[in-house]
Amino acid sequence: MNIHEYQAKALLKSYGAPVAQGVAILKVEEAEAAAKSLPGPLYVVKSQIHAGGRGKGKFKELGPEAKGGVRLAKSIEEVVANVKEMLGNTLVTAQTGEAGKQVNRLYIEDGADIARELYCSLLVDRSVGRVAFVVSTEGGMDIEAVAHDTPEKIHTIAIDPEAGVTAADVAAISKALELTGAAAEDAKSLFPILYKAFDEKDMSLLEINPLIVMKNGHLRVLDAKVSFDGNALFRHDDIKALRDETEEDSKEIEASKWDLAYVALDGNIGCMVNGAGLAMATMDIIKLYGKEPANFCDVGGGAGKEKVAAAFKIITADPKVEGILVNIFGGIMRCDVIAEGVVAAVQEVGLKVPLVVRLEGTNVELGKKILNESGLAITAADDLDDAAKKIVAAIEA
Ligand code: GDP
Ligand code: MG
Repeated sequence: MNIHEYQAKALLKSYGAPVAQGVAILKVEEAEAAAKSLPGPLYVVKSQIHAGGRGKGKFKELGPEAKGGVRLAKSIEEVVANVKEMLGNTLVTAQTGEAGKQVNRLYIEDGADIARELYCSLLVDRSVGRVAFVVSTEGGMDIEAVAHDTPEKIHTIAIDPEAGVTAADVAAISKALELTGAAAEDAKSLFPILYKAFDEKDMSLLEINPLIVMKNGHLRVLDAKVSFDGNALFRHDDIKALRDETEEDSKEIEASKWDLAYVALDGNIGCMVNGAGLAMATMDIIKLYGKEPANFCDVGGGAGKEKVAAAFKIITADPKVEGILVNIFGGIMRCDVIAEGVVAAVQEVGLKVPLVVRLEGTNVELGKKILNESGLAITAADDLDDAAKKIVAAIEA
């Protein structure tokens, strides 16, 4: 789950990280009061969408000459003028895709005088099985290009979970970021704070780009992107409350309500499977026969008829889907339950694309019987290979 920049900053501030004063607004009328509550004379108006690259982004409605999604303003009037121009329009950035994202919320922040822009993130480094800081002196807007062109400028410092962030870790991070004076002093509290927040709140990513050294020598968190581990959300009601469903893919929201693992992909065959291993095998074999999966929806081990029907509806709601492959191994999950779910869903939403079903395992004969007697245009398959061939052939027909 992702949250907005202003929410991430409030969270980090509650841990004691240096964050500017700011106010989030939803309406133009709130802009003046928001700006007046800040010290000035420099303000920043920031689009709040779940995507990065806002500074270099462009508003669809305003044309290529207009300023981007993060704007500096030198007076309260300028803040209001920018708010009027930005709010409600669609921001297209390198991360939003061509469709862009509508800006429904702006964050008005106290502006900083920047001396240096640095990069600092925390993530789970699977290669060492630890949470690691990834830092670079080359912060700002294009860290992907830095990683690609000059990987030696990116430093990784993994943290021992038992020891936490030690003085030696702080020294290593500070050295990599070339911090001196007040910034090096600030670092002694900031890096342990970031680690504590990451750990306690079960984050999967905490990215500060840029972390700045201000002209007065101190550090400040200027941008913040935070993702949380969805599997740990059950123990963080405060974080769950930050969810902004208007920012999420409606199919993924629906899937999470049913506890389904749904992943959208780029191809045109929708896949309903049970278990991650079978999902991978299904996608591999679709590719082997020359097609690409549009998504996969893993219904897991113990799904009932309603859950199977919900999964089916989510898959068919994707306009890219030209055919559906249901590939289920019934162990705990019984084949007749799957078959009933599929039939119920097809009866409810209709079937506009070819559907191939491959069932194996517990009650497979009963499952096949339910499908065959349903009177629906469902193609039964005998095994994985047969199923992939049949769905690819059906799409090409
Ligand atoms: P992003 O483009 O979505 O990553 O948005 P950021 O929050 O990182 O802002 C983009 C850029 O705007 C930063 O890299 C800064 O150069 C600039 N910027 C943001 N806030 C301030 C500020 O308070 N003062 C100044 N001078 N520049 C800022
Ligand atoms: Mg940024």
